[in-house]
Amino acid sequence: MSKIAFFCIPAHGHTNPTLGVVKELVRRGHSVFYYSYEPFREKIEKTGAHFVSCDAFDPEQRLEPADAARVSSDIAFSIKILVDTTLALDHMVCAQMEKDRPDCIVADSMAFWGKAVALKLEIPFISSTTTFAFNQQSAKIMKQSAKQALSFLLTLPKINRELKRLRLKGYPVKNVLSILQNDNDTDTIVYTSKAFQPCAESFSHKYTFVGPSIRPAESAVKKTREKLIYISMGTVDNDRLDFYRNCIAAFCDSPYQVILSAGDLCDLSQLGQTPENITVCKTVDQIAVLQKADVFLSHCGMNSVTESLYHGVPLLLYPQTTEQSGVALRTAQLGAGIYLENTDPASIRNGVEQLLHNPQYRKAAAEIADSFHNCGGTLAAADKIEQVIQSHSRCKI
Ligand code: UDP
Repeated sequence: MSKIAFFCIPAHGHTNPTLGVVKELVRRGHSVFYYSYEPFREKIEKTGAHFVSCDAFDPEQRLEPADAARVSSDIAFSIKILVDTTLALDHMVCAQMEKDRPDCIVADSMAFWGKAVALKLEIPFISSTTTFAFNQQSAKIMKQSAKQALSFLLTLPKINRELKRLRLKGYPVKNVLSILQNDNDTDTIVYTSKAFQPCAESFSHKYTFVGPSIRPAESAVKKTREKLIYISMGTVDNDRLDFYRNCIAAFCDSPYQVILSAGDLCDLSQLGQTPENITVCKTVDQIAVLQKADVFLSHCGMNSVTESLYHGVPLLLYPQTTEQSGVALRTAQLGAGIYLENTDPASIRNGVEQLLHNPQYRKAAAEIADSFHNCGGTLAAADKIEQVIQSHSRCKI
């Protein structure tokens, strides 16, 4: 039986898809060591893996909500965080690797420190990607703007300084792309379908598209009107009182049931008394809501969009970050959503009604749902990890 080390960033959206895979590997008799952070200990230990805490070595991970937005827009800032984290963890992780001698490392594509230690200690490596896989073709299609390309070039000297710090500690990092991009020589698990992945054909046979892993609903939502509209700006950057006011104005006199998940950053009492057809909550059981929803007005986080499409629900797309814009663009390209052009009440109502009245959107969402249901899921991901370990042990003989 094998020893496998998992690495992930402290984010539920990146951790959750791996949990089923870890549970399956443990069920097959493997030992899994999962490097993560205290808030994730309980759910990781439930899978049967050995939890390894990275908290004490990692001050940079205690980011403020404002920093979270900066991470997706400021590439030099993100690279500095990755390098600082890798170097802070270096001593503990290398010592632990010496002790455990894993047969393979599986690291989230953003947990660069996992990939770095695999390179440094020459341990077989698998990348795990919970967002779209990213290469030059898909970056082009996802329309990286000229402004973004320029700001990237301007930050290159800063980035090169960071890479030098890594090389001095024995990490053989070639260039910035080897940190940011999936490459065709690396075994990679992608938690979406080939149909939803942009430019899927440009990724090599080393890529396994296993599809999303959607948690079960924990409650049941009662549908009180013929059509149910769900609205959420996700869990990170959802302090959007004015937008929520416009949503309420858009639907207060409508025949639709509306559920608005507003998060816990804003004072909901500021929204006043809401009409009977509109429910505002800090958080909802999103899967239970999507099982009944007809349209989702979303900030286009990868998880929210995937969960929506998995249930065949078309989206009104309102992305806020570069990553969310990529997810929105792909959804619109496949005909399962339209962009919210303006945030005034009339535009919000109009966008929702276009999606409700044209069955093509629901049909396109159902086709993507089929592609998700027909992927191999956690079993295919566990098979892939075993295959990689076997192929490396054959090489050693
Ligand atoms: N979510 C939830 N209840 C809510 C709002 C969000 O369960 O009221 C979950 C949602 O199902 C998804 C995650 O939080 O799994 C949000 O992830 P996403 O990638 O869409 O956006 P983020 O919050 O990371 O911006």
